[in-house]
Amino acid sequence: MDALNATDDISQVVILLEANPYFWGGRSNGAHSTGPANFTFDRFLEHVLLFINSLHLLNQANRIVVIATGATSCAYLYDSNAAELSENARTARVSKKLSVVEKITQKLEDFMSKEAVYDLNQGTEDNRYSLLSGSLSMALCYIQRILRGPSPHPLPRILCLQGTPDAPPQYIAVMNAIFSAQRSLVPIDACIVGNHHSAFLQQATHITGGIYMKPPAPEGLFEYLSMVFATDLYSRKFLQLPRASGVDFRASCFCHKKSIDMGFVCSVCLSIFCKGQRTCTTCNAIFAPSKQPNPAAAAAQKRKVS
Ligand SMILES: [Zn+2]
Ligand SMILES: [Zn+2]
Repeated sequence: MDALNATDDISQVVILLEANPYFWGGRSNGAHSTGPANFTFDRFLEHVLLFINSLHLLNQANRIVVIATGATSCAYLYDSNAAELSENARTARVSKKLSVVEKITQKLEDFMSKEAVYDLNQGTEDNRYSLLSGSLSMALCYIQRILRGPSPHPLPRILCLQGTPDAPPQYIAVMNAIFSAQRSLVPIDACIVGNHHSAFLQQATHITGGIYMKPPAPEGLFEYLSMVFATDLYSRKFLQLPRASGVDFRASCFCHKKSIDMGFVCSVCLSIFCKGQRTCTTCNAIFAPSKQPNPAAAAAQKRKVS
C-alpha cells in the first residue's frame, strides 16, 4: 500500500451543525416554522452525536470538528484533535464516548444562551437565516491549518447540516467560500434537515464534488448520515452515492440581495445586478450607454446589421 492509500482512510470531517434557536423553536419571523414536524433539536442532536461516535468507530484516527451555525454567530463546539491531546494527559479512555457528548452539549448550551442574549440586544436581526457564510469560513480556516501542517495530513471534507432557508444577503460570502473550498480540493457535503431545498448548498456540492441530500424522513437521519456521509473520499469512487437531481443556479443580485433568474453582469468584475446600471457599484467600471437594454432587441439589431 503506498503512502497515498494509507492516508485515504483518515478523514478530517468538519460538521456545520444547524443551531439556529429560532428554526428549532419554530419562532422564526415567518408565519410558520421552517422545521420538519415532530423533529426536535434534541432528536437531531441525538442523531448527530451517534454519527460522530460512528465516525470515530470507523477509524480511530478520524478527526472531527463540530461548528455550530446560529442566527447571529458561529462557534467551535468540539475538536477531536484537541480532546485527544488533553485526554492523553489524563488517560481517561473509558469515558471518551461520554465526554464527547458532554463536551458538545455543554458548549452548545453556552452558545445558545449567547445567541439569546444577542437577540435581546439587537431585536431587529432577521433570525430566519443561519450564518452559513460564517461557519463555512471557520471550517475552511481550520482546514487550511491542517493542510499546511505536517504531512501526511487527514483528507478534509465539510458536512453542512442545514435547516434554515438560504440567506440571499450572504450570497457573495457563501460563493467566495465555495470557490475557496474548490481551490483547496475540499468537498462540501450537504444534508438538508429543513423543509426547503438549499440552492447555495446545491451549488456548493456541485462545484466541489460533494454529496447533496435532503432525507425524505428526518426521523431516520442517523441512517442517512452513516450510509451516505460517513464514507471517506477514497471509498466514494466505488459507490453510487446520491447527487442533487437538479441544481438551482440562481444568483442573488449585489444591489438588493434578492434571488433573481435573469440579470445584468458587469463584464469587468462579474458583479450581478437586477437592473441595468450606469456604473458598476463594485468596481466603478462605466458602462457604455445602450439604446436597447433588452438583450433580445439587441440581438435582432445585430442580425439586421450583418
Ligand atoms: Zn438588485
Ligand atoms: Zn464591476
